[in-house]
Amino acid sequence: YAGKKNTLTLTDALMNLKVKDFQSMPVIVSENMTVYDAICHMFLEDVGTLFVADQNNYLQGVLSRKDLLRTSIGTQDLNKIPVHIIMTRMPNIAYCTKSDFLIEAAKKLIDREIDSMPVVNETVGGVEIIGRLTKTNVTKAFISLAQIHEL
Ligand code: ADP
Repeated sequence: YAGKKNTLTLTDALMNLKVKDFQSMPVIVSENMTVYDAICHMFLEDVGTLFVADQNNYLQGVLSRKDLLRTSIGTQDLNKIPVHIIMTRMPNIAYCTKSDFLIEAAKKLIDREIDSMPVVNETVGGVEIIGRLTKTNVTKAFISLAQIHEL
């Protein structure tokens, strides 16, 4: 009986996790940053994905490690190429909001085969970046569920 009760509690806890409880800080760069500077930025900030925004902080694009690697193995001068040339751009960006259920956001990461996505506020002017949700955040949520077991 105790086992069954725990199972119900765990399911309940899983379905109630929200993005806002596990999201992390976004790392945002401008559309005109060079690919060279974006690579330096990615190392310095220790993230796997950079979000690209305009001056209003509205989401314009996403840069992954492989986007930068792909460009680097070409012969071009990385100091001359702005990131907006190589980024994945709106409207093809998968994103979520802080009030979304974490399980839905996690499913979106898997379905779209991506490592992370921006957490946003959708406004009339554009899509404002307020956070970042990564596979690491989802893994941390998975660990947090194990604590239910101790109750
Ligand atoms: P990597 O390319 O380093 O394996 P990802 O799997 O996250 O990292 O990215 C795969 C491709 O999907 C890249 O071209 C990247 O620009 C794009 N991408 C990453 N995140 C998103 C997102 N949230 N929405 C749409 N495209 C994305």
